Amino acid sequence: MKFKTIPILILLLAIQLPVLAGQPQEESRRNITANNLSGPLLEVHFLDVGQGDSMYVRTPGGKHYLIDAGPRSARKKIIPYLRYLKVEKLDGVFITHSHMDHMGSLLYILKEFPVARFYYPGYFHTSATNKKVAALLEQTKTEVHEVRRGDTIELDEGVAAVALHPPKKGWEPFDDDLNNFSLVLRLTYGDVDFLLTGDAEEKSEKEILQSKMVLRSEFLKIGHHGSRTATSEEFLEAVFPLYAVVSAGVKNSFGHPHDVVLKRLRDRDITILRTDDSGTIGVYTDGKRIMIKIKGKDWLPVSWFIRTRTPGSTWVIVNKEGGSYA
Ligand SMILES: [Zn+2]
Repeated sequence: MKFKTIPILILLLAIQLPVLAGQPQEESRRNITANNLSGPLLEVHFLDVGQGDSMYVRTPGGKHYLIDAGPRSARKKIIPYLRYLKVEKLDGVFITHSHMDHMGSLLYILKEFPVARFYYPGYFHTSATNKKVAALLEQTKTEVHEVRRGDTIELDEGVAAVALHPPKKGWEPFDDDLNNFSLVLRLTYGDVDFLLTGDAEEKSEKEILQSKMVLRSEFLKIGHHGSRTATSEEFLEAVFPLYAVVSAGVKNSFGHPHDVVLKRLRDRDITILRTDDSGTIGVYTDGKRIMIKIKGKDWLPVSWFIRTRTPGSTWVIVNKEGGSYA
């Protein structure tokens, strides 16, 4: 049942949203069909890793990246999934911060796949696992890059990851507040942007807002698994997402995502996608339009959506039931 209820919910939202957001422009509606998602695609997969974060990114030019590496138990999901997607090497691995729900499977992944470059915010706390990671990165001669606000990493032609946090100076990392030393990235391809916040909390959001960096994004990976300590009204206002992705474990003991955060999202008509409800969520975009694949039983796509902002900020939504993605 779980797999059926979510698409139906999104379908209902999809039908209602044009009404809520004002009249869609008929011209734009006609121009958009499921078939014209064409050309090189960027894929962002929010992996179902239980309570934790892990995202796989495939660029239009066929480069492979991983952003966070889930808890230790997730290695049994991440590695087969990457193999299923025919990934043989990773061009880069980003770790937002060194909590185990974000890097628990990292050692296994580094052993399984050649990794060209490793990106992190420049601070890992001094656990035994982290020492092993550092030793393995050295042994495998992986390039290690410290990334801070203002740095831009070109993932491929036309695809950039811009670091929004932590700042280069004046923001000290502490072992007991690693969440707020999370690497926050804005991934951009054409007109479609993904804001990936790690476990950054309100304290970081305020600081990011003060930085005046561009935040507006179609997708917001909700900070800290939907904890009430993140996703403030002001931050949501600045990001103004169409979709919010929550990465959290089924019936996790933290109560993530919290109701107050979900209400904030619903009040703004933001479509909520949850890995605990839907499993792995795949987003495909040609830089203008968006298709979302929600894992169904047997890994079949259960719904397809195209939804975009027209120049007048009107939302246009086209559904294509039972479509296939070649
Ligand atoms: Zn976390």
